[in-house]
Amino acid sequence: MRLILLGPPGSGKGTQAAQLAQTSGVPQISTGDLLREERAGATDLGKQAAAYMDRGDLVPDELVLEILRARVSKPDCAEGFLLDGFPRTVPQAEALDAILQGLGVQLEAVVDIEVPDAEIESRITGRRSCPACAAIYHVVMQPPKTAGECDRCGGALTQRSDDSAETVRNRLRVYHEQTQPLIEYYRTTGCLH
Ligand code: AMP
Repeated sequence: MRLILLGPPGSGKGTQAAQLAQTSGVPQISTGDLLREERAGATDLGKQAAAYMDRGDLVPDELVLEILRARVSKPDCAEGFLLDGFPRTVPQAEALDAILQGLGVQLEAVVDIEVPDAEIESRITGRRSCPACAAIYHVVMQPPKTAGECDRCGGALTQRSDDSAETVRNRLRVYHEQTQPLIEYYRTTGCLH
């Protein structure tokens, strides 16, 4: 299965991809998670990406494509992958087409998750996650049993630095300007759901 989950930040792409990864056995590939790992490891790429991420802007295509290419070439992607947060621009989608063609494989589906902006703002500003096991919570809609503590592993929950109200508004603006055009891009391929 090769699938793209498309939608604004906070629409639930990561949550759905994690559940699909469990039932299908193919890996979830989140470029946001890969970039956060690069930052945590203080790699050159991570350092270059950091300022864009903190502003809620997109990281330049060439940097994102570098990590995406490396990730989809790993053996665990042989039977497929679930792309979460990639592509986010038309040039990224075109580059993905070329990568898939090079691998001799095809996309099965692009699932667009639609959520209104006001709902996104309240979801994201209340989002908390566990850095240890990646579990996701919401302070009102899906709170942990003990405030600030992960139900699954007991880790201390944190808020992503780019989940502040101001940054979320910029991320939504960027989504509408740069990522939403992908809906039309994939509509023409007939695999958009
Ligand atoms: P996410 O976890 O998907 O919300 O991504 C967090 C941040 O990482 C975004 O706001 C961007 O700065 C960056 N990012 C993630 N994926 C991409 C992508 N495909 N293209 C450009 N920037 C990305």
